[in-house]
Amino acid sequence: MEQVVVDCEWPEYTQAVERLAHFVLKKSAERFGLGIFEGKPLRIKITITGPPIPQKNLYYTIGKEITISWIRSSEKDPSPEKYLKSLVRSDGSMYGTMVFGLLHEIGHSVFPDLIEDHPPELPECLFEGWATFFAWSMIPLVWEELGEDAWPITHNYFDYEMNRKRKTTEDPRDLEEYYISAFFRIEEESGGTGISKIIGGLRQRNAVAVEELDRVLKQIKGRN
Ligand SMILES: [Zn+2]
Repeated sequence: MEQVVVDCEWPEYTQAVERLAHFVLKKSAERFGLGIFEGKPLRIKITITGPPIPQKNLYYTIGKEITISWIRSSEKDPSPEKYLKSLVRSDGSMYGTMVFGLLHEIGHSVFPDLIEDHPPELPECLFEGWATFFAWSMIPLVWEELGEDAWPITHNYFDYEMNRKRKTTEDPRDLEEYYISAFFRIEEESGGTGISKIIGGLRQRNAVAVEELDRVLKQIKGRN
C-alpha cells in the first residue's frame, strides 16, 4: 500500500499535495530520523466546499491510518492574496499560508496527540508547537526545491512564513509559542539528532525526554 494517498477532485491539487507530502516526509526522515507515527498510511482528504472559506479548515484523525481532512473553498482561481488569507482566525487576522497549513498537519502525522486528557507535562500546545516547528523547519527546504511552484496558485509563502517564524521565536507570547521556540533551540544546540531524541522519547512518554524539553522551555522563559 502507498504510504501517502491524496483524495481530491482536482488533479493539480492532488499532484501538488502528494508532491509536498512525499517531499517533507523524506526530509523529515533525513533531518530528524522521524517518519509517520507507527508507519501508518497517511490519507489526505481534500473536500471542496463553496465560499466562504471555513474558519477552521484543517484537522486530523488517527485509526488504522492517519487521516488529514482538509476543507477548502471551491473558488477555482483565488488571488494569491486570498490564498495567503485562506487560514484566518475568527477575528479576521491571518495565521498562515496554505503550504504552512498542510505541512503543519503532516507534522501531526509524525508526532500525533493521542491523549484524551492531557497530563500537565504533555499539554495540547506541545503537539501544536511541534507541528508548527515542523512546518517552519520544512518551508525553507520546500522553497529551495520547489519554489513558488509548490502550490498551483503561486505565491511567496517563504517570506511570509519566515517572517512569522522570526517574530514568534524572538518574542514567544504563549505556551505554544514557547514550545515552538524550544524545538528550534534544541535543533540549534543538538541538531536533527536532538529533535529525534526528544520526539522519539515523547512518543514513548519517556520521563527523560519530558524533563529535557522542560529544561529548554524554562531556559527560554528565563531569557524573556
Ligand atoms: Zn495542529
